[in-house]
Amino acid sequence: MSSSGHKPQRTCLGCRVVSDQDQVVRYVLSPDGEILVDYRRKLPGRGAYTCLDRSCITTAVRRNQFDRAFKGRVKHAVGEGELIANLSGQILERIVALLGMARKSGKAVAGSNLVLGALGGHGRIALVLLAEDVSDGIADKVIGKAGRMNIPCFRLLNKDSMGQVMGKGERSVVALVTGPLAEAILLELVRYKQIVGES
Ligand SMILES: [Zn+2]
Repeated sequence: MSSSGHKPQRTCLGCRVVSDQDQVVRYVLSPDGEILVDYRRKLPGRGAYTCLDRSCITTAVRRNQFDRAFKGRVKHAVGEGELIANLSGQILERIVALLGMARKSGKAVAGSNLVLGALGGHGRIALVLLAEDVSDGIADKVIGKAGRMNIPCFRLLNKDSMGQVMGKGERSVVALVTGPLAEAILLELVRYKQIVGES
């Protein structure tokens, strides 16, 4: 996120477009010759890259671009479905970790009544998360109120896991207070929805 304008550039194995390093997914080869998704760019070794895009991952796999990038050392064939599932799992983990940080720093509001109340305060809420299994009544109220204020809503997790992330019992709605954490979560949510193929 530096503003120097000289971020490292990486070429996508699928579409060959060159992008900033933080706009692509990194892959490395395990010592066993297995392709590993390295979303957080933490694993050692030579990296290969694709856009955060299902079609680029699919193209890269079908055209054997991973094997070429890793100089023929890929020992285990991997399907694009597996890579996409693995990537979406890593993005979800990242979202959950960021939500935990937001909770600890008091930047998350959990529970439908508290969220509906917080949505009344101008500019305070950046985005709203609704559990997949939220009741229609609560969803309508929250989405309606957030929509009138142009606050984006996303469906994620279920009530039980949402509550666990918030360190509470079941929670069907969580709102993120405006700030850098909410921005980071929003970025990951958009990526997640893109990769799992939801709008
Ligand atoms: Zn691409």
